[in-house]
Amino acid sequence: MKILLVEDSATLRYAISRYITEVGHEAVLAQDGEEAMHIVDATAVDMIIMDVEMPGLDGFETTRLIREMLGEHWVPIIFVTGKSEEGDFQDGIEAGGDDYLIKPISRIILKAKIKAMERILDMRNQLNLANRELTELSERDSLTRLYNRRTFENRALGYWRQANRAREPLSVLLLDIDHFKTFNDTYGHIAGDDCIRSVADAIAQSANRPGDIVARYGGEEFVVLLTNTPESGARHVAEQIRLAVAGLQIAHKNSSASEFVTLCVGGATLNNTHNGDLSSLIHAADQGLYRAKGAGRNCVSVKQFTPLPKLLLLDKHAHTKPLIERQLLSHCTLINVDSYTDALSATQQQRPDIVVIDDDDIHEALNFCKNLSELDAVRVPVILVTADDGSSAQSPFDQLVILPKPLDSRSLLANINRFLV
Ligand code: GH3
Ligand code: MG
Ligand code: MG
Ligand code: MG
Repeated sequence: MKILLVEDSATLRYAISRYITEVGHEAVLAQDGEEAMHIVDATAVDMIIMDVEMPGLDGFETTRLIREMLGEHWVPIIFVTGKSEEGDFQDGIEAGGDDYLIKPISRIILKAKIKAMERILDMRNQLNLANRELTELSERDSLTRLYNRRTFENRALGYWRQANRAREPLSVLLLDIDHFKTFNDTYGHIAGDDCIRSVADAIAQSANRPGDIVARYGGEEFVVLLTNTPESGARHVAEQIRLAVAGLQIAHKNSSASEFVTLCVGGATLNNTHNGDLSSLIHAADQGLYRAKGAGRNCVSVKQFTPLPKLLLLDKHAHTKPLIERQLLSHCTLINVDSYTDALSATQQQRPDIVVIDDDDIHEALNFCKNLSELDAVRVPVILVTADDGSSAQSPFDQLVILPKPLDSRSLLANINRFLV
């Protein structure tokens, strides 16, 4: 162990450091609190023996600062001090110390304390290790050792945000073994499990770049997320996986697709995650999988995914909604909200491409536009349909179009289209 000894008296520093080396540990020496802080910052120490009365920072203050610096990482700290009042003992423990020795210190007791702390430290390390193993276990699927679906979803979201920031393309592949029910019926469940394991290994080996996540998505279904990968790259990986699985040559005599086990891959690529969301991308990959199954199995279908533009609608008078639903439902995704508060948070979270408001209170609507324009990085055009003639309100926003009532539906649609192309 590396033990940091903080002691301003040179004589005691010498004596205690000898006790430390006698029990087989390395002593690192500091003569005041500041020097101790520098050492802890630069080197990993396993234990600290700390004098309390020192010029400058005293032992209690130094301990508080060290605890702050180390955060979750626990290092045992033993005080050595001439203070022997009960209150001093209490102060020391509250400052973050773990034990307390009164000077003059006995070499036997100091050595015993070091040993006891070492034992606690060992237990703590074992506990940390067990916790890490447990976390690892809970993130993985027990049959294949791939990530489980929950881990995939958590991690994919992180990669999604990263792709969004870097404006990089992102691809998702969904994979499903062909005629696997028949495989189980023919060879039994244990052989089925073995098959799933072999297929999982083949997939993991084919998608092994640092930015790839491979997970077991369900029974005999898998998912792969490919960061910074355009459609052509995703198709290439999908095809590689398909060939790798067929190349395993696991017999599947009752499959109508091949004499060996095969799978289908559906994939979708989003070039700019700014326009979409992860679940729509996965849904698009699932549609690809469906196409691949329909095309006779043992094949791949990967496509670019172009999300529909999003229109956020706040219709206070239920005049505009039927028209928009009738005319635009197949051209855009409609987000309906009932209040300006909801409109504001939905704009932040879902990033609509256009906002349409139907409100005869033009001042309230303009106030909303003002709040909208103050949102960071959101610049969304707004179309306001209103019976208020607006003569009192001059729009300060170039992205705002005010349409009077009675509503001319052609004019509304033309304006929406103008902003969406
Ligand atoms: P398709 O080509 O359309 O995908 O046909 P399929 O038979 O594979 O159909 P489907 O994907 O719906 O069926 C999946 C079957 O996989 C259902 C179940 O019997 C089997 N299965 C799911 N999980 C496991 C598992 O952990 N072990 C084993 N042995 N079989 C599983
Ligand atoms: Mg001192
Ligand atoms: Mg399936
Ligand atoms: Mg299947």
